[in-house]
Amino acid sequence: MNISPLRQLVSILLGLSASSLIAGGLPPLDWDELSQTNPWQYTEIYREVPVVTPGEQGSAPSDAVVLFDGTDLSAWQKTPFGEGVAVDRTEYYLKQYEEGSGWAPAAWKVEGGAIVAGQKQGAIASRRAFGDMQLHLEWKVPVLDGKDGQEYGNSGVFLMGMYEVQVLNSYQNETYSNGQAASIYKQHEPLVNASRAPGEWQSYDMIFTAPRFSEKGTLVSPALLTLLHNGVLVQHNAVLQGPTAFIGEPYYFPHPPKLPIVLQDHDNPVRYRNIWVREL
Ligand code: MG
Repeated sequence: MNISPLRQLVSILLGLSASSLIAGGLPPLDWDELSQTNPWQYTEIYREVPVVTPGEQGSAPSDAVVLFDGTDLSAWQKTPFGEGVAVDRTEYYLKQYEEGSGWAPAAWKVEGGAIVAGQKQGAIASRRAFGDMQLHLEWKVPVLDGKDGQEYGNSGVFLMGMYEVQVLNSYQNETYSNGQAASIYKQHEPLVNASRAPGEWQSYDMIFTAPRFSEKGTLVSPALLTLLHNGVLVQHNAVLQGPTAFIGEPYYFPHPPKLPIVLQDHDNPVRYRNIWVREL
């Protein structure tokens, strides 16, 4: 960088008379002098920033990978495991994924422009794998009589198939706070409860940084998640401690840099719609 104009600016400022400083207030800039060198230009960056047309009324922006637009489940497949993957099954999941065995077309229903979470049909996974990403999706828990706690509208979004953001009715529904809606399950409770009532559509917007591993498989940097629930910040660059653990403490297990997004089948007819990803 050519710093001579900056030096010039410093000398101009240092050259201001002591009396003007003593008189109080900021000394006026000498624009005639400064315009000889335009020193402000040295911190201006000119790089082409891609233009993206924002989506209207929740629709996907122009550069998004659309995983569900209300029509069909072609971007998804049935996983060979049941509800989802907990940390003690990570190795099994990765092996099944690598081998491609036991996967089948997704059989969850599509109804009224929404996916209805399967009930004991097994979790579904995006066919495409993702690492760092911006993810948007909308979900709705139907009004369910006689349900409460973890049984009222339980599903979940497993980033990379193993890091669960909880989906649950948390509107006037008590449960453990690190297991309520918008928690990173059993790791981080949400900053606030921004839940809408059952029967209403809700949104998640996530910014996810995948964990990094060395060639030897040691953790270089953990996964990070920022989450907005119905437009409200509820997870702010939260540091994940490892894949979701239902029992015991989470711990990292080395895995590929990109893996599918998995939607949990927790035997509740939770709806999903408008699912899209922007890879980062
Ligand atoms: Mg869940």
